Parts: sequence; structure tokens; C-alpha cells
Amino acid sequence: MQDGNAQAAQSHRPRVFSGVQPTGNLHLGNYLGAISQWVKRQDERENIFCIVDLHALTIPEDIDPEQLRQRSRSVAAVFLAAGIDPDKSIIFVQSHVPEHSELAWLLNCITPLGWLYRMTQFKSKSENRDSVGAGLLNYPVLMAADILAYDTDIVPVGEDQQQHIELTRDLAIRFNNLFGDTFTVPKSEIPEAGARVMGLDDPEAKMSKSLSHRPGHALELLAPDKQLRKAVMSAVTDSDRELRYEHASRGVRNLLDLYSALSGVTVAEAEAEFAGEGYGTLKKALAGAVIDTVGPLREEANRLLADEKALDGILAQGAARAREITMPVLRRVKDALGVG
Ligand code: ATP
Ligand code: MG
Repeated sequence: MQDGNAQAAQSHRPRVFSGVQPTGNLHLGNYLGAISQWVKRQDERENIFCIVDLHALTIPEDIDPEQLRQRSRSVAAVFLAAGIDPDKSIIFVQSHVPEHSELAWLLNCITPLGWLYRMTQFKSKSENRDSVGAGLLNYPVLMAADILAYDTDIVPVGEDQQQHIELTRDLAIRFNNLFGDTFTVPKSEIPEAGARVMGLDDPEAKMSKSLSHRPGHALELLAPDKQLRKAVMSAVTDSDRELRYEHASRGVRNLLDLYSALSGVTVAEAEAEFAGEGYGTLKKALAGAVIDTVGPLREEANRLLADEKALDGILAQGAARAREITMPVLRRVKDALGVG
């Protein structure tokens, strides 16, 4: 490699793609497992933040057009309030960049059905439904398109999305083998602390936006203090009276993990802090820590949401910058396939 190239390679910051669905209200799991990690590494990486509204269409019975548009704005406001800087990072709404859908079709045509039927998220989300839309099955292909359209190096995800990243890699490799080197094969990155926040009402189930209709399930980032405190205080624990991490149930461990992530102490330190205490003490301390994190974030997000025009302007600028990347990638893909 020549000197100039070596220098360019060195100064190349890894490109990171992160997506969040506007399917419900963002919660502390999204913040700890995703958003806060992205903000921390904003300077060392080239970040692309995408509000994936097309992914929110996979359950047609649940589509509410007005609500969907508003939820996309509200996700954007939370991102910005959490510290994502639109001058440093690209932040935009997926449907504003048509290359996502276009690439998804092209990738669909090379995706074996068996790969999609194997996805555990498809299995769990299609269970107990009378009718399942093709969008639910094809969801991981659209996700692969989101990632591959940007020559992404790294995708930071919680454990729940790991299988979809594997599929994305498999698709990129398959395409490259069939039609020549076209896609960058991305890697996933699982954050350590707070990797998987569980539901407060049912600690066996991951805290999820789509379950936010269940009272006491999630700690929502735009919820008032009172609601946050109530959700923590009524969290499911177990019938023990004293706190011992090693014997603790999933629910109690979830509370300790959350406390540790929010207050910056290790789980062992948190355990020592509450050793011999009842669960009430832990819950009160946790409620305080939750409110200290969520309160200021909520106030700033609400301020941004109040100026719709300014917010939409930031998103339009983000989409234009996104397309500067996706259009040349799509050109490459179409050339490889002999279309367009
Ligand atoms: P949905 O119910 O619509 O799937 P979700 O809460 O699972 O919503 P996603 O939009 O699927 O959220 O994921 C957004 C990001 O947040 C992803 O990086 C995902 O891995 C992460 N994430 C989601 N839920 C949690 C959780 N409970 N703990 C940690 N990270 C999470
Ligand atoms: Mg999810």
C-alpha cells in the first residue's frame, strides 16, 4: 500500500449503522442497550442513525398513520435529546431514503426462504396470529438492506438482534459470491452493560416497545416521574425477603443490573450496597436512579418536539446526507445484477 493510502486507511473511522423502530415508546432498555452506547462513541466513529419506520409496518393490523409519523418524530427527539449531534452523525427516517426498499427487493430475490423461517423473532412474532403478513417474514431482508446500503462496518445491537446480523452477513457473502465483490460484510457489536433489560412485569421477557401497552412493563423515556416510580415499585421480584444476588430470581437480578448500569457501580458493589436489605430499599434507590437519568432527557425531548418544523428540517437534511452514500452503493448493486 502506498503511503497516502495507508494514511487514508488509518484515518478511516469505522462506519456504524444503528436502527430503532418507531413501534412504541422508547424505553430504558433501548437507552442502555443502544442509544447511550451510540452517543458515547460518536466522535471515534462515523455514525448513521436510522428511524426504521418501514419496519414498523410488518403487523398491518397495528398501523396507525398519524401515530406512526408522530412516533418517528418522537424517536428523533429522544435521539437528539440523548446527545446525538446531527452535525457529527447522520440521523434520518428510513422511508425518506428510497434505496432501503429498493435494495430490500434486490436482496429478497437471492434470499432462501429457509433462512427466513429459521429466524426466532419471526417465529415468536408470528405465533398466535390468524394471519401473518409477508413483511414479517421479510423483515430481516429489509434490515440487511438498511445495513448493506451504507457499506457498514459495525452494527451495535442487543442480543435479540444478533441472529438478524448473522443473516445480513450471510446475504452479503452470498451476493458477493454470486455476482462479484459488491458489499462490505458488517460485524455486530454487543454492548456489555445493560445488554438485555427485562420487563418489570415479567422478567422472563425482554423489555420491548411493542409491549409498552402493558402497565408496569417498561420504563418509558417520555413517561412522567410518577409513572416511572410506580413501575419500579411494582416490579415483579420473588418471595425472599433479603437480597442475595446468587440466589436471586431473574426479576431481582434485573433490578440490580439496572441499578448498576444507571449508577455506574458494578453489580458486586450494588449487591454489597443492598446486602441484608429488603427489596423495597433497592427499588427506592433504583427509582431515584431512573428518574435522574430519564427526567432531563424527557424535558429536552419535549422541547424539541414542540418545534416540529425545526425537527423535520434536521431529518430532511439527514436523509439528503444518507442518500449521498446509498445512491452509489445501489448503482454498484444494480450494475452487478444487470438492472437499472
Ligand atoms: P420492538 O418491540 O418493536 O421490537 P424493541 O424495544 O425491541 O421494540 P427495537 O427497535 O427492536 O426495540 O431495538 C432498538 C435497539 O434497542 C436495538 O439495538 C435493540 O437491540 C435494543 N434493545 C431493544 N430492547 C432492549 C432491551 N430490553 N435491552 C437492551 N437493548 C434493547
Ligand atoms: Mg425488538
